[in-house]
Amino acid sequence: MAVPKRKTSPSRRGMRRSHDSLRVEAFQECSNCGELKRPHNLCEGCGHYNGREVVAVGA
Ligand SMILES: [Zn+2]
Repeated sequence: MAVPKRKTSPSRRGMRRSHDSLRVEAFQECSNCGELKRPHNLCEGCGHYNGREVVAVGA
């Protein structure tokens, strides 16, 4: 079995854990209508994605 040659120093351990506190945002505001939407998904409120209307909503 592969085994680390040296003990991880407190400095290295801290460097590794420096990214642990970053959180993925589960919801973001729609740039068109301000509704909360899932990132990389079509907005439920206005049907826009990436600055243009992809799906017609209502009317
Ligand atoms: Zn929207």
